[in-house]
Amino acid sequence: MDDLRAALLRHLAQTSPSPLAVDVASAEGCWITDRNGKRYLDLVAGLAVCNVGHRHPKVVAAIKEQCDRYLHVIPYGEFVQEPQVRFAERLTALLPDGLDCAYFVNSGTEAIEAALKLAKRATGRTRLIGCRKSYHGSTHGSLSLTDNEAKKYRNRPLLPDTDHIAFNVMADLDLIDERTAAVVVEPIQGDAGVRLPDPAWMRALRQRCTAVGALLVFDEVQTGFGRTGKRFAFEHDGVVPDILVLGKALGGGLPMGAFISTQDRMALLTHDPVLGHITTFGGHPLPCAAGMAALDVLEEEGLAGHAGDMGRLFQELLAHPRIHQVRGRGLMLAVDLGDAARVQRVVHRCLADGVLGFWFLSCPTAFRIAPPLVITEQEVRHACQTILRALDRED
Ligand code: PMP
Repeated sequence: MDDLRAALLRHLAQTSPSPLAVDVASAEGCWITDRNGKRYLDLVAGLAVCNVGHRHPKVVAAIKEQCDRYLHVIPYGEFVQEPQVRFAERLTALLPDGLDCAYFVNSGTEAIEAALKLAKRATGRTRLIGCRKSYHGSTHGSLSLTDNEAKKYRNRPLLPDTDHIAFNVMADLDLIDERTAAVVVEPIQGDAGVRLPDPAWMRALRQRCTAVGALLVFDEVQTGFGRTGKRFAFEHDGVVPDILVLGKALGGGLPMGAFISTQDRMALLTHDPVLGHITTFGGHPLPCAAGMAALDVLEEEGLAGHAGDMGRLFQELLAHPRIHQVRGRGLMLAVDLGDAARVQRVVHRCLADGVLGFWFLSCPTAFRIAPPLVITEQEVRHACQTILRALDRED
């Protein structure tokens, strides 16, 4: 086992100097088991991916069934691949008018890149606007819209003609102008430490974009598929974007992203020049089959509503003098301790006690609670007891 850990550090590039390095043997529902047989209650869900739980039997069955039919046959769009077509049909049937044509890619950040390209093409403009404290991914275009200087400064120059407005600040909407191709917004900011939108600001944002002809892009990579107590976070405020970007839970635990808009707008990718966005593996039948099964589970098991109930239970139980605030909606929560070193100690103590939590990229004073949406009341109680015990050990 130690061999494996040494090989990990030697042959797999790391992104932090001290990875958690839990040595995974198996995972099921809300639980991960390591190779020593230690069990962890998972409050991270692979960073908002495993919404229907690890290895849901229906998702596993759909993957196996598709494996027995075919895997990769040809890049996106040339052949009729049933899992791809059915999934696009099913997904867009759940969305409002104007979000009726989907393009499948491989990750959240690729979907953002493609949405930016589509917006430039559709408007003939170049200016792109993001929000302060946002996170949209790690490739150059997404990073340009992200507002986290620590992640950006070694990568400049990034995309030209990008700007940022403050989330929830009305006056900043004036910065969206006739030169703006797209405004990219997380309808609940995730890595900023879970920041909720002011519904009036969301409505004004929609109006301003429409008034100046800028496309409103919602990044629901993290908030989608029941995570916030609704199927999609934009449903809380009833503000519909021009382009919807999805990822993470979309593929039911397999890698996948998507951007969705009107058929007319998406058709722009077919000419002048043709192949406006191309990707070898986008729409691969395996994640499509898994994603379709996961969407069925989400609906059949009423997981969005359950996420709302379990989120409220977390908020109620997590009362402690060391907790400054529990923010969020559904099972997208930030527990703010107001102290970054304390967050590190508490997360590591919880890990030792078999509860897996994690921090945020841009909010070191809080840790996240984003478990699989299938978490039970008993498991929520167990998680909260462990967290409160870890907090009791702080002076
Ligand atoms: N947008 C948001 C809101 C995200 O949270 C993330 C990932 N944390 C991304 C985009 C990028 O997704 P990916 O890591 O799949 O590229």
